[in-house]
Amino acid sequence: MISITSVSFGERAEELVLATLRSGQIAQGRMVRQFEEDFARLCGVEHAVAVCNGTVSLMLALEAIGIRPGDEVVIPPFTFVATLNAALKVGATVRFADIDRISYNLDPSALAEVVNHNTRVVIPVHLFGYPADVKGIIDISPDIAIVEDAAQAHGARRGSEAAGSWGVGSFSFYATKNITTGEGGMVTTNDQEIATRVRLLANQGMRERYMYESPGYNFRMTDIQAALAIPQLEVYSELVSARQRNASILNEELGDLEGVVLPSAPSGIFHVWHQYTIRVTAERGISRDEVVTELNAQGVGAGVYYPRLVWDYECFRNHPLVRIDPTPVAAQVSREVLSLPVHQHLTDSQLEQIVLATRRALRA
Ligand SMILES: *Cc1c(COP(=O)(O)O)cnc(C)c1O
Repeated sequence: MISITSVSFGERAEELVLATLRSGQIAQGRMVRQFEEDFARLCGVEHAVAVCNGTVSLMLALEAIGIRPGDEVVIPPFTFVATLNAALKVGATVRFADIDRISYNLDPSALAEVVNHNTRVVIPVHLFGYPADVKGIIDISPDIAIVEDAAQAHGARRGSEAAGSWGVGSFSFYATKNITTGEGGMVTTNDQEIATRVRLLANQGMRERYMYESPGYNFRMTDIQAALAIPQLEVYSELVSARQRNASILNEELGDLEGVVLPSAPSGIFHVWHQYTIRVTAERGISRDEVVTELNAQGVGAGVYYPRLVWDYECFRNHPLVRIDPTPVAAQVSREVLSLPVHQHLTDSQLEQIVLATRRALRA
């Protein structure tokens, strides 16, 4: 089976983890500081605060901005459930704005229909590694705070500006992400006060030992996790190049299929290809689910991200804090998408296998 994700660590990571174990400093220390500095550089921001996963990094970003019950948060409905869970966890009322058909990210013009005087935060998601049009979103809602869900978009850029640098950024280092520590997260910002507040909240509300400044949590990252990440950042640009190369090969080899929409990265968009996602439209005359079943049967680990809109589950449909707004584009896209392996460890022969299997599954 050609898996949709592939995790492997080099010798450098093994050495750093071993050195960390031998140092006896396995909670938070030197390694986390180093990772934060390196990650801030990747995003071109002044502050990065490491935390234990990408869901709490979203929660902390929202809490640091001061979101309270009664405030509205707007998110795209085509996202991983963590975006919704984090907003609900801080007590916000959640609304949804539609996405566009090219980037699958929040569409600024759709946002205009949803924002109102209760809207405090918009959370664009840089889905699949494609950076959302955050500037367009800010133009629509200049007084509304932005939290970027960049869990899938480490190092993605529009022009020279990186994901996580327009608003308060939130990243994940879960096992399947482009950079991984097993579990892990990061908040990025240019705002010193937000950074301080996130750091306080993640560390029991204390700056100095036993000097509590606010109620808080323990959402800290450990040095062992950071030791895994530091070497990945050193070679990250090569990793992204490999994903970009794989994506362009797939685009070339699948480009002639009618009724199939391939992903694109227009000029100026630095896509980091967390996922390579195609759409099987009605015009193709075969259902997405059939194609996925066929691909899996042929040994290609195709996956569906995401089969339903994020609110389309019993636990959210009748949730008092969830306001369901119509989002026809997202509804259509969630029925049509499937993702093919694009990770950096694919060999040329595996890429060829993926192409052949996909063409067969699509009856081409
Ligand atoms: C992975 C992911 C998260 C959550 O990150 P965790 O580290 O798993 O908590 C949030 N949003 C999106 C879009 C993700 O893909």
